[in-house]
Amino acid sequence: MKNNEVVQLMHEKVQKQSKKTKNDVFVSVVEELVGEDAVNVAMALSKRKEATDEEISQETGIRLNDVRKILYKLHNFNLATYRRIRDDSTGWFTYFWQINKERVYDLIKSRKKLVLEKLKERLEYEKSKMFFYCPNDGDARLTFEEAMESSFKCPKCGNVLQHFDNSEIIKILEEKIRELEEEMDSTSK
Ligand SMILES: [Zn+2]
Repeated sequence: MKNNEVVQLMHEKVQKQSKKTKNDVFVSVVEELVGEDAVNVAMALSKRKEATDEEISQETGIRLNDVRKILYKLHNFNLATYRRIRDDSTGWFTYFWQINKERVYDLIKSRKKLVLEKLKERLEYEKSKMFFYCPNDGDARLTFEEAMESSFKCPKCGNVLQHFDNSEIIKILEEKIRELEEEMDSTSK
C-alpha cells in the first residue's frame, strides 16, 4: 500500500464521520434515544405538519397500537408533542401529533458540536505526531514512539518503515472543520 492510498483510506474515515445530512442525524438521534422501531414513525411525522396516530399507521404500515406506543415514547423524550380535540358527541379525544422541531434542532446541533470536537482532537493528534508506515502492510500507521520501539522495522514483516506524510490528512481535516463550522454558523442565525 502506498502512502497516497493510506491517505485515501484516512480521507474516507473522515468523510464518514462528518458527512451526515440533517436527515441522517435526525434518524440516528431517534434511533439512539427511542429505538429503531421509532424511526419510521418519526420520519412519517416529520414530513407532515401534524398527523393522527391512524394516519401514521396507514402511512408506515405499523400497527396502530405500536404507533401509539412509539408516539408516547417520542413524547417522553420531548421529540413529539400533541394537541387534542374533544368530540362533543362521543366525548373522545383525537390527538394531533407533531415533531418537536426545536428539540430535534438542538439535538442535531449538539451532535454536530461533538463531531467538530472529535475532528479538532484528531487534527491536534495529526499535527503533534510524526508517523511511519510499512509499504507492505495495509493501512497501519505507527507513531514515532512505536516505530522507535521496533527499531523502525515493521512489526509484521520486518521491512524498513517509511516516513508517513500526513499533510494531506491535515488538509482534509482542516477543510472538514471549516465546512462544519460554517454550517453551524449559518444554521444558528
Ligand atoms: Zn510490513
